Amino acid sequence: MKENKRSSIKSAKLFTEVCVLVTLAITAVYIGAKEIRQTEDISRAPIVDSGADIDIEEPTEVVDENKIIFEGSEIPTKDKFKGDLILVNNNTQYFTGDEELVSLNTQLRQDGVTSFTANDNSLKVRKEICTPLENLLNEFKAQKQIDDVVIISGFRTQEKQQQLYDADLVKTGLDYSELVAKPGYSEHQTGFAVDFTTSTTWDYDGLGDYEWIDENCWKYGFVLRYPENKTDITQIRYEPWHYRYVGVPHAYYMYKNGLCMEEYIEKLRSYTYEGGHLEFTDDLGVKYEIYFVKSDDGAETTFVPVPVNATYDISGNNVDGFIVTLYADQITAIPGMENTTSAESQAE
Ligand SMILES: [Zn+2]
Repeated sequence: MKENKRSSIKSAKLFTEVCVLVTLAITAVYIGAKEIRQTEDISRAPIVDSGADIDIEEPTEVVDENKIIFEGSEIPTKDKFKGDLILVNNNTQYFTGDEELVSLNTQLRQDGVTSFTANDNSLKVRKEICTPLENLLNEFKAQKQIDDVVIISGFRTQEKQQQLYDADLVKTGLDYSELVAKPGYSEHQTGFAVDFTTSTTWDYDGLGDYEWIDENCWKYGFVLRYPENKTDITQIRYEPWHYRYVGVPHAYYMYKNGLCMEEYIEKLRSYTYEGGHLEFTDDLGVKYEIYFVKSDDGAETTFVPVPVNATYDISGNNVDGFIVTLYADQITAIPGMENTTSAESQAE
């Protein structure tokens, strides 16, 4: 009797557990399959890991394979200090020291590029900006038959920035520099910034034929970082020679909308995952969706929704969160739904 009671309690418990599990599974599959897409639909479903691989009745809703489906990804919160969209200025320090650097001249020799040079062999930049920079200046040479651009400054160490800063104080007799960013606060410490000059003038004004570079550098992911009409916001004088790599979609949007990086990073904060994403198509016909996810600063990781069936990038903004850039044209098969391809039906 005792035994029976125990086993009936046991089976009642088991039954409850099974019920709970089945309910959870149905919910997970339903929510997972339900498209979570940037539309006017405000009742966007919560994010779940759609990796749930449970064999259960198909939901009645038809899944449009051209829709983007999201899942949550746990990103180390400290990664908000990394990525090609980090904002570094007088108020925002650069922290990470994990740049993958290369000697620009070595890279140019390796790639057989002769459309420009670096001032000396020790000049380094982030590896990832080499190809975009080469493509920009190769095209400039092709368009204008000019190959006298010299990169005079790239990556700077903290020590180098300190030297430049101290030297400027000695020169001016001031106790702060108006020309050189404080050590830790220079974009050159990120490896994403380069200063142009020319071997003809050794003084770069970005005028005449060189205007082509300002008008086209977005196609290669660069922006003129300190424009003449934004000095009150950047707090840096007009620098026609200083270019910063931010990636094509962001360079395009900033250039076309006349925004400096401070303004752009601020604007992106209003495009959250749950709210409207920033959607646009660039002049080359490529479609993007961008949204901001605030970092969970008290926690080790931050929950960031990312697409499971589209190409995307994540970058920190170096202040308060992550920017997810989605290549909206590059939608792939929905994971787990590959079996519904037409190739298989043809094989029948
Ligand atoms: Zn510079």
